[in-house]
Amino acid sequence: MDISASITSVTGVGEKSAEKLERLGILTIEDLFYHIPSRYLDFRNAVPIKQATVDETVSITGEIWEISNAFTRRGKKITTAVISDESGTMELIWFNQTYLTKAIQPGDVIHAAGNVGWWAKKKAIIAPMWQKESPEGDGLNTILPIYPETEGVTSAWLRKITKNAWDSSSNQINETMPERIIDKYDLLSLPRTLETLHFPKDFSNVKKAHYRLSFEEMFHLQQEALRRRAEWDQQESVFFLQKDQFNKEVDQLIESLPFTLTSAQTHVVEDVYADFLRKSPMNRLVQGDVGSGKTVVAAIAAYITYLAGYPTFLMAPTEVLAQQHYQTISSILKEKVSHIALVSGSKKTDSFELGDIIIGTHALFHQREKLPEAGLVIIDEQHKFGVEQRAQLVFREGHRTPHIMTMTATPIPRSLALTVYGDQDLSLIDELPPGRKPVKTWVVEDHKHEKAYQWIHDQVLSTQKNKPQTLIVYPLIDDSEHESMADVKAATTEFEYLQHVFSDLRVELLHGRLKPTEKNTIVEQFRSGEIDILISTSVVEVGIDAPNATIIIVENAERFGLATLHQLRGRVGRRGQQGYCFLFSGTDDELTLQRLKAMETHHNGLKLAEIDLELRGPGQVFGTQQHGVGELRFAKITDLDLIQKTRDAAKITSDPN
Ligand code: ADP
Ligand code: MG
Repeated sequence: MDISASITSVTGVGEKSAEKLERLGILTIEDLFYHIPSRYLDFRNAVPIKQATVDETVSITGEIWEISNAFTRRGKKITTAVISDESGTMELIWFNQTYLTKAIQPGDVIHAAGNVGWWAKKKAIIAPMWQKESPEGDGLNTILPIYPETEGVTSAWLRKITKNAWDSSSNQINETMPERIIDKYDLLSLPRTLETLHFPKDFSNVKKAHYRLSFEEMFHLQQEALRRRAEWDQQESVFFLQKDQFNKEVDQLIESLPFTLTSAQTHVVEDVYADFLRKSPMNRLVQGDVGSGKTVVAAIAAYITYLAGYPTFLMAPTEVLAQQHYQTISSILKEKVSHIALVSGSKKTDSFELGDIIIGTHALFHQREKLPEAGLVIIDEQHKFGVEQRAQLVFREGHRTPHIMTMTATPIPRSLALTVYGDQDLSLIDELPPGRKPVKTWVVEDHKHEKAYQWIHDQVLSTQKNKPQTLIVYPLIDDSEHESMADVKAATTEFEYLQHVFSDLRVELLHGRLKPTEKNTIVEQFRSGEIDILISTSVVEVGIDAPNATIIIVENAERFGLATLHQLRGRVGRRGQQGYCFLFSGTDDELTLQRLKAMETHHNGLKLAEIDLELRGPGQVFGTQQHGVGELRFAKITDLDLIQKTRDAAKITSDPN
């Protein structure tokens, strides 16, 4: 039978069971074949209990006499069961699996397998694999696959229907990878892969079979990236430059800056200039830590576009950032570009102006009908926008595709650069302007708040000029993207309390429900040093560049990813003064604390992102907006070796020769 046939065509699967299988994503025979065991129980060496020898791996079958939980003196949870067959009895011991007393009851007959050792001077199998004796009697002298299960769908039943499906349809499984790739990378064929995983006779090829599936998955991701890239390169850009066309003007602009570009910035400017020479549009992602100076690079790109005779749009995620970009870029380009416009966002107070450089928030894409054809679109903090929003600003009916420059402070591990971002060119600003010191960081237990406040107070009072300012960040209460009334209330309560604690300092609160003008006023006052302590509920709004911001407190720090925490602390110490960061957390989860502690020792955003990616996985780290990686079933996104190999493989197959 064809493997695309409905799962109901498998012997033993009716409408009812099909509904249950659907919960596992299994609709067709093919889906069933791709429902891969998560582990195996090795029941090959079945022995009577009496013959179970210490230090050997054995499998036994017997009746459970008793099973109970206990705690060790060190607080570990132990489950002990007594199992018996005709030849004798022995104990089974598990750690931290107290649910087992519900899953296994006295009187049950189970198969248990594992290494025999001593426990409290008695023979026992420590942490055995187990499963209840199945009516099919398939539990002995074999390797039993254990599948991801769901209510009403057991591994025993999955084994049965997979076998039925295999008997009727395995001859219909066609190879899905190109022959030459299979040969070159010594992969198992697809039929062998699936057979090995569902019906292993030993474990010799299981690893290879897994590898084949991972390889294929990553290979498709790479092919997809190459295809998108090729498609992009087919387009003709709105304009391109002749070699050296605007060298003089660009040099003059760089000369006129109040600082010298770092060499990292210079490299990126060169990358960007080279992009403008090509006939297809630029598609470049500029990544640089907070404070690495991305804005000036954006200004230079916008200036080149202006010289070429086309407008630039710059879209930022918040009003505050748009405003700040407007000021910075206006001051850099004041005598060079005639008209720089700010499109303000809130619908009621719509101000809409056209210019040579048009800066704004989401308002830009809401109002895109009114915009002219762009030469360049710059998107700051690109991950804050949905893929759709970005696309709508870039691909517009009746207009050619502009050059695109996206900017992010979120570090992109190499593995992601080569997969999710595989169709873009990447530039890295891996250097901060001279004189910045790493921000001193401590993970602090919640009960030490008072001490921290006292310390901050002392810092402010003991400084005469350029008094240090403090930012306090509260994450949203639930993990939603939008601020709720409860969030505002919690922050307000805290605000009132802190006004009391710092009665002789000026404390202000910034939250998403304030009017844009109120927000701007507060941000302006913080930038100018009038406010000593600023409490904020929102992470992005603190994208402010305040010269005397020196201390940052992050509450419930465990809610944030390391990359975000690193960005947050990048807000302080921006003028070469020593910055301080307190990460408060009430968690007692060891792993979480360990993750946070990485902030104390690591000061490289990329390194932190890699640690986070390893500990929490791509879905958590990069959110839902980054398509593709969250859904990998077999391959690991951090597997650089696999990425490299499949990338090469995809290139081989995309080459027409
Ligand atoms: P980000 O990369 O976080 O967007 P910005 O572009 O806001 O950083 O720059 C942060 C601060 O550093 C700004 O005040 C900017 O004027 C300053 N800056 C940028 N480049 C340099 C440089 N090469 N030398 C000194 N200061 C710089
Ligand atoms: Mg920026």
